[in-house]
Amino acid sequence: MESIQFRKPETVDEAVKLLQGADGDARILAGGTDLLVQLRAHMIDPGVIVDIKSIAETRELTKNDDGSYTIGAAVAGAEAHERDDITADWPGVIEAWDLIGSTQIQGRASLGGNLCNASPAGDSVPAMVAAGMTANIAGPDGRRTLPVEKITAGPGKTNLKKGEFIVSFNLPAKPSNGGDAYLRLIPRTEMDIAVVGCGAALTLDESGTVTSAKISLGAVAATVLVVEDAAKAIIGTKLEPEAMSALDAACQAACNPIDDKRGTVEYRTKVAGVLGRRVVSIAANRAGKN
Ligand SMILES: Cc1cc2nc3c(=O)[nH]c(=O)nc-3n(C[C@H](O)[C@H](O)[C@H](O)COP(=O)(O)OP(=O)(O)OC[C@H]3O[C@@H](n4cnc5c(N)ncnc54)[C@H](O)[C@@H]3O)c2cc1C
Repeated sequence: MESIQFRKPETVDEAVKLLQGADGDARILAGGTDLLVQLRAHMIDPGVIVDIKSIAETRELTKNDDGSYTIGAAVAGAEAHERDDITADWPGVIEAWDLIGSTQIQGRASLGGNLCNASPAGDSVPAMVAAGMTANIAGPDGRRTLPVEKITAGPGKTNLKKGEFIVSFNLPAKPSNGGDAYLRLIPRTEMDIAVVGCGAALTLDESGTVTSAKISLGAVAATVLVVEDAAKAIIGTKLEPEAMSALDAACQAACNPIDDKRGTVEYRTKVAGVLGRRVVSIAANRAGKN
């Protein structure tokens, strides 16, 4: 391994210049819980590592006047979990983030890192997508915003251009009568990679009819999936058995998983339907309690 330059800029512009000017691979360091493992395993060989944790914007979690949240890309899961406001408004996002690793990992693991590591099984990603989160990206051409589901391009790959990084995320204001949830299946009780992960966010009217829904699956394709047919299956219903069967079928139909030691194609596909049902039930229950 050649020597690696380590930089710790204090502004977004400085970080962009470092990323843009780097010869070869340049990597952002947030919590380092993926990056350092990959470095030690010689899976990556960056020329420059840019630690973004001294940039204030990446470290702030703010509830805005309109009820939305701005979440710095390097905020750690443990910090978010301690906040009563976001935990009450978006329990699905927080429970997905909180599933990442152990207590030690939680003290470091960021949403930016979980997303940009681009594992198809990243736990926070389906929950972020279901909640309608967007990423605020800084780069040589200025700032741009992309829906979270547009960030990953495949395992280990993102759609970020040279010099770009995610500064923060927008999480919309919680809709009235809205609820969200995330569930994953792992072969062990904790500290494992999802066989399937599923996030859902929905709203109900006063009669309990679903008025809007977004359902997302992880670990069943190269990138996170938005399952529009699953949302269509339940919008306008009170989650009667037929609607739940149609939702289950839509989740299964969307899957294009791999076979590996954690699960076969058939198993992952079946589990996607089961998790879809369960996660929607939890989200609806939460929405009904608003
Ligand atoms: C013991 C252990 C258990 C784990 N368990 C889980 C688990 O249960 N579920 C799960 O999903 N993951 C798990 N992980 C993986 C890891 O902890 C998460 O993916 C975590 O969220 C990564 O965040 P980080 O801040 O540490 O990222 P880093 O390691 O700092 O970065 C990860 C990658 O993203 C890039 N990156 C980081 N931030 C940005 C940004 N703002 N803009 C652009 N690129 C960026 C980095 O360059 C790097 O390539 C586990 C890891 C360990 C070591």
